Amino acid sequence: MSIDRIAVVGGGTMGNGIAHVAAQHGKNVRLLDVDQGALDLAMSTIGKNLDRQLKKGVIDEAARDATRARIESDTDLSGGVADVDLVVEAVPERPELKAKIFRTLDSSAPDGAILASNTSSISITEIAAHTSRPEQVIGMHFMNPVPVMKLVEVIRGLATSDETTAATVALAEELGKTPVEVNDFPGFVSNRVLMPMINEAVTALMEGVAQPEAIDTVMKLGMNHPMGPLALADLIGLDTCLNILEVLHRELGDDRYRPSPLLRKYVAAGWLGRKSGRGFHSYD
Ligand code: NAD
Repeated sequence: MSIDRIAVVGGGTMGNGIAHVAAQHGKNVRLLDVDQGALDLAMSTIGKNLDRQLKKGVIDEAARDATRARIESDTDLSGGVADVDLVVEAVPERPELKAKIFRTLDSSAPDGAILASNTSSISITEIAAHTSRPEQVIGMHFMNPVPVMKLVEVIRGLATSDETTAATVALAEELGKTPVEVNDFPGFVSNRVLMPMINEAVTALMEGVAQPEAIDTVMKLGMNHPMGPLALADLIGLDTCLNILEVLHRELGDDRYRPSPLLRKYVAAGWLGRKSGRGFHSYD
C-alpha cells in the first residue's frame, strides 16, 4: 500500500513535528487544527526548524523550500481528510476527544485510509472501537522532538490487521524512523517506564529532597540521561504528563501511577512547561 497523502490532526507540539518530517520525506501533508492560531504557530515553528536544519547542513535550500511547499493547513477536519491515504491524530491526550475525532475521521476519510493515533497512553483498541474500520486503526507514537528522535512505537489494537501494521511500519521507515512494535497496554512501553520516573522526580521536588536543577543534574550526570526528568517533563508539556499519568492510574488501577499533587498544581496554574514559558524551569 503506498502512502502519499497524509493528514495530521492537531498542530501542537507533536503535530507540527510529524507534518515537518512527513513533508521532508516527500509526502503531501495537510495539517488540521480547530484553532487557526495554533496552525499559524505550527507553520512558523516548522519554518524555524527547517531553517535550523539548513544551518546545520542537514538539508539544503531546495529541500527546505520543497518541504514547506508540501504542507498546507486547514481548520476543516472533515474536508481535510477526504482525499488522504493515512491520518495521524495528535490532539490532546483525552479519551473523549480522541473518540470524537475518530468518529469524524471514520465518516470523512476514504474507505481504504489508515487512521493512526499518536496517543501516549490511551488504548488503541478502545479508539478503534469508535470506528467502523478497527482493522485500519493503529498507534503511531512519535517521540518529541519529532524531527530529531528516531523511535516510532507502533501499537497494534486487538483488531489491527497485518496489512495496516506492515504499511505503518514501512511508512515509519520511509520517514527515517526506527519502528518498534508493541502490544496495546496503557502507556505502551515508553510512557509506562518514563512517566513513573518523571512523577517520582516531581514528588522528590514536592518533598524538598532537592531543587529542580539538582534533581535534573543527578539524573544527567549520574544516570547518563541526556535530559533531567523535570526538564523532559517541561519539554513534553506538564498537562500532557498529567493526562498520561491519569490514564495509567485509571487503566492499570495501581497507585504507583497516581499523579503527584505538585504536578496537578502546576497544571492548574497554567505552568505547562516550555509551551507556556514556565514549568519546573523557566523559558524565555
Ligand atoms: P498540544 O497540546 O501541544 O497540541 C494539541 C493540538 O490539538 C493543539 O494545537 C489544539 O489546538 C489541537 N486540537 C484540540 N482539539 C482539536 C480538535 N477537536 N481538532 C483538531 N485539533 C484539535 O499536544 P501534544 O503535546 O502535541 O500532544 C498531542 C498528542 O501526542 C497527545 O495524544 C500526546 O499524548 C501525544 N504525544 C505527546 C508527546 C509530547 O512530548 N508532547 C510525545 C508523544 C506523544
